[in-house]
Amino acid sequence: MLHQAVILVGGRGTRLGPLTDDTPKPLLPVSERPFLGYLVDELARQGFDDILLLAGYRGDRMDSFCAEMRRPGLRLRCVTEPEPAGTGGALRLAADLLETQFLLLNGDTLFDINLNDLASPPLPADGSVLARMALRRVPDTARYGAIILENGRVTAIHEKGRTGEGPINGGIYLLDRRAVGRLPPSPCSIETGLFPLLAAAGAVEGRVYDRFFLDIGVPDDFALAQSVIPASRRRRAAFFDRDGVLNEDIGFAHRPDQIAWMPGAREAVKRLNDAGFLVFVVTNQGGVARGLYSEEHVRTLHRWMQEELRTVGAHVDAFYHCPHHPDHGEPPYRTDCRCRKPEPGMLLQAMAEWPVEPQGSFLVGDRETDVQAAQRAGIEGTLYRGGDLDALVAGILARSGAGLGARSGTGAEVEAVR
Ligand SMILES: [Mg+2]
Repeated sequence: MLHQAVILVGGRGTRLGPLTDDTPKPLLPVSERPFLGYLVDELARQGFDDILLLAGYRGDRMDSFCAEMRRPGLRLRCVTEPEPAGTGGALRLAADLLETQFLLLNGDTLFDINLNDLASPPLPADGSVLARMALRRVPDTARYGAIILENGRVTAIHEKGRTGEGPINGGIYLLDRRAVGRLPPSPCSIETGLFPLLAAAGAVEGRVYDRFFLDIGVPDDFALAQSVIPASRRRRAAFFDRDGVLNEDIGFAHRPDQIAWMPGAREAVKRLNDAGFLVFVVTNQGGVARGLYSEEHVRTLHRWMQEELRTVGAHVDAFYHCPHHPDHGEPPYRTDCRCRKPEPGMLLQAMAEWPVEPQGSFLVGDRETDVQAAQRAGIEGTLYRGGDLDALVAGILARSGAGLGARSGTGAEVEAVR
């Protein structure tokens, strides 16, 4: 699966006046932290943990940003161009560092999409399509430049000034490395130099996402960003018990070959990702206390499950497991802990570590103890008794008004507990 994301952060941001005299536009503070920090967090939580910044103006500030954002599990690097060569020139300069396919993002826009949806399936290996562009429908395309989309292909890209409703370039792309070879001579722009060429050759797909979109490059929207972006980070969360909900409960599963996904499980996670929910797994793993397997087995299995999910455009934001048991094994695992369900410890930890909006958050479990943990954490719990998990989740979203076209004909037995 894709892990690399490349962010264009070389822009000077002249439209913002003296604000960017000393600071690259993506590093301007939004509610007291660099705008770029929000983008990096968003990429990392969705599994894009190898991030490459293409810097120009004040590249030294980008190096400092990388140092400040450093954390385990996140690779964050910066390449600074020696002289301005446009976004295309910056990409060409980094060509040797690029994976076969990667995400490319503008560093001055926030488009709140399911990035794994854009990345799946991968672009065809034969090179017939070199880019997939995330599009946003707007009431008037004049400020941005209109995109003509026909049967999923971008057939034309217009300059700014064309008025009327339609899709615009959302500033996030899945790119094939071979596209670098199609760049015009430097200096050149990816947006106005490369993409029109590729579109004319029929090599650009487009997907429309009707999600939150903001371009901080103009003063009005930069002012708006101060309140809107922090608020948009606060999300409802879905908590899933693991065994018996996401995968068949065979008793103490701890290896990939023991995992059979429940019907509609991966689709349910994707539906929640698409709708902008945070998704967590909260699982009792008393098998650790019993000495049947180790916590490293649990973590390795969860990494495998994450990669499986990402192949279908889904992801889990974090897995929480309780390794304890009150009556089995030896200390420290043999203990009366606060995390083993029906205790709510794992849910409360997730709610402390992530910007969770409790109102509208929910848990799905296959035991009464799961539902009790949800109630103790102050959220709704739903008992799942087999059948299509995606249909069950669609029903929950439809009832809460967050549905994205809920399906009918469920085949799932639903019991909501408030
Ligand atoms: Mg269970």
